[in-house]
Amino acid sequence: MNGSLAHFESEEYNAAVKVVEVLVENGHLAYLAGGCVRDLLLGEVPTDFDVATDARPEQIKGYFRRTTSVGAAFGVMLVRDFRQTIEVATFRSDGVYSDARRPDSIEYSSPEKDARRRDFTINALFVDPLADDEAHQIIDFVDGVVDVHARVLRAVGNPEDRLREDHLRALRAVRFAARYGLEIEKHTKDAIRRHARELVGVSIERIGDEVRKMLVHPSRIRACVLIDELRLDDAIFGDVRPFDQSVMNALPESVSYPSALVALAIGRGHALEDTPDAICVRYRKALDLSNTDRDGMRAILDCLGSFVARWDGLSESGRKRLASRSWAMESLSILEAMNPGRARNIRAQIEALKIRFGGLNPKPLLTGADLIELGIPSGPAYKEILDAVYDEQLEGRVETQPQAIRFVEEMAKQSENENNMNK
Ligand code: ATP
Ligand code: MG
Repeated sequence: MNGSLAHFESEEYNAAVKVVEVLVENGHLAYLAGGCVRDLLLGEVPTDFDVATDARPEQIKGYFRRTTSVGAAFGVMLVRDFRQTIEVATFRSDGVYSDARRPDSIEYSSPEKDARRRDFTINALFVDPLADDEAHQIIDFVDGVVDVHARVLRAVGNPEDRLREDHLRALRAVRFAARYGLEIEKHTKDAIRRHARELVGVSIERIGDEVRKMLVHPSRIRACVLIDELRLDDAIFGDVRPFDQSVMNALPESVSYPSALVALAIGRGHALEDTPDAICVRYRKALDLSNTDRDGMRAILDCLGSFVARWDGLSESGRKRLASRSWAMESLSILEAMNPGRARNIRAQIEALKIRFGGLNPKPLLTGADLIELGIPSGPAYKEILDAVYDEQLEGRVETQPQAIRFVEEMAKQSENENNMNK
């Protein structure tokens, strides 16, 4: 075994074990289940510890003081008695899937049936945390332990049926295979390929959620390569484009979702022929991006375009403004991946700008409130005036507030003269 179950400790693990203890004291079967078992066996730190039990939701409610029912139709309860939120689900088998997403009905059942309704063997294991010796700790109805050790991702039961029931499993397969470096077993792979087109019917929220998890993880390249290899790209993004990993490959391990999306879009050959708007619209629609992620993607692409095409012709204030835009640094990381020499050059220039005239984005010497105080009639001209005086500040021609006020008064005088001349 890679990870040791016996020696794992965390507040959440301890809380989950206490939940198991209470259930067992009341005469029930109760195990840790699903993702946490997989993560422990693979030597990863689980994100959460779920409990599976033969106690029914009404019984669970009676054993603990703080419970909430979630997904009542699935018999899932949250238990909060031990300062953590532990999900407790009753063993169940899923009924027929008529919408390829959720079973029409569920039925409370045995641990074995509960294991068999799960998607992949590595996700279908239980651990009895109260067992005396390690040999009895793992409860495995689907030969999942063998697959964990062989690092194989295999559908539970007949892959064809399992992929037909819930098409999202194709993406879950990619995510798990990429994240843990697993080989997808041949029949499972064939079934994913065969059902690739049907992913189109899955809601974009669920697809987007999976893709986000893949892209924010350091294993993002493996995931993108698998998406291509399994021909899932058409169903996810609405077009077939071979993925070139070079830009993504040069990104740091930990990057924001918008940065990873831009690397994906460039890797799929986008940025070069499309406008940033068209790219963002496409990915927002395909992945149900939030406004924040969409705006981030858009800003990175905009900055990237400016660093590539406009930087050399910008004034000092223009460069400072660009360099201090949000997402500018993410955009430079992408540029670094595309053209390291140019990115290094721009970075060096930005470093130099940081120590000139108050740096990249000093506090403005004048604000709208100051203009009001100066008696300048408020209106659309304010932005123009403030921009102009800030440019002067960024370029070091205006260094104090009195100088800024004088500059504004000069500006006002000039525009008055121009108005008079136009009369
Ligand atoms: P992670 O939380 O890291 O994404 P996980 O395996 O815990 O991975 P969850 O979505 O939290 O994934 O689901 C918990 C468990 O429920 C899984 O381990 C799996 O056994 C089962 N499960 C989840 N989604 C499906 C599905 N679409 N089909 C079948 N079983 C599923
Ligand atoms: Mg989970």
